[in-house]
Amino acid sequence: MIKIPVSLEFFPPKTPEGVTKLAAARAELYALKPEFCSVTYGAGGSTQIGTLQVVQAIRAEGVCGVPHFTCIGATRASVGQTLDAFKAAGIARLVALRGDLPSGSGGSFGEFRYATELIEQIRAHSGRHFHVEVAAYPETHPQARSPAADLKAFAAKVAAGADSAITQMFFNADAYFRFVDEVRALGIAVPIVPGIMPITNATGLMRFADNTGCEIPRWVRLRLQSFGDDTASIKAFGLDVMAALCERLIAGGAPALHFYTMNQSGPTLALAGALAAG
Ligand code: FAD
Repeated sequence: MIKIPVSLEFFPPKTPEGVTKLAAARAELYALKPEFCSVTYGAGGSTQIGTLQVVQAIRAEGVCGVPHFTCIGATRASVGQTLDAFKAAGIARLVALRGDLPSGSGGSFGEFRYATELIEQIRAHSGRHFHVEVAAYPETHPQARSPAADLKAFAAKVAAGADSAITQMFFNADAYFRFVDEVRALGIAVPIVPGIMPITNATGLMRFADNTGCEIPRWVRLRLQSFGDDTASIKAFGLDVMAALCERLIAGGAPALHFYTMNQSGPTLALAGALAAG
């Protein structure tokens, strides 16, 4: 077992086949005894209903299911309705996010511009019922005016009532430790859990990293590119890189690890196995 608690992240499948595959992946991943399993919302066009269905399936399996909840395009009334539905479904923890406007949508933010406003609304509507997780960005959110402004935005989310945070994926442990130090220097004590993305696919990883402002070190990028279609080498190298990162994070005091599973059990289990053996 890994020495610190773990949590897992899934996304709502789009097909019946995907639902079956995810159920099988979850069954295998529960060997890690996750503290909770969260389910994304909105990314890739997923609906809150799809998120809730997967959360309910997780809860029926005896594991804490945690919906992600984005506020972009939402109204105070719709947020209140969703919070009531979560509460009625027995949900007591959620990940509160702003979300992103679909590219080229020309859409509007709705009644919420930042996640802080959603957290304020959650506390105003539901009091302390929910444990509220928020996002954190050790390498700075891509739309932030500056690292200092992003740190201030993070502090505002905690002041609004966030209980803990999960980071965007990163490869640079120093960025995480520095971010945690800066947060602590502001007198903020909430747990900041590293988000860990197992490496399985070079092209997808690089695209995702570029979109989220995560820097892939040049030496990692060059090696991944050099493997071409050789997925076995990509996975073996990716496992080494991520195991070394996780070991540094654990040694440096990370309170837990949150795995972006991409609905697959193999890569996360391989990484967990390497950490348990290390
Ligand atoms: P915020 O904290 O509101 O920050 C957004 C930007 O606004 C930042 O640049 C911040 O610096 C800036 N900002 C905040 N407050 C102010 C202010 N008062 N004045 C000026 N600037 C300000 N997306 C999904 O669609 N679905 C998901 O399920 C999902 N899950 C995620 C899970 C995790 C762990 C993470 C790290 C991200 C996830 N995302 C998800 C992506 C997330 O929605 C995007 O990164 C989004 O762009 C920002 O969301 P946020 O909650 O961090 O926003």
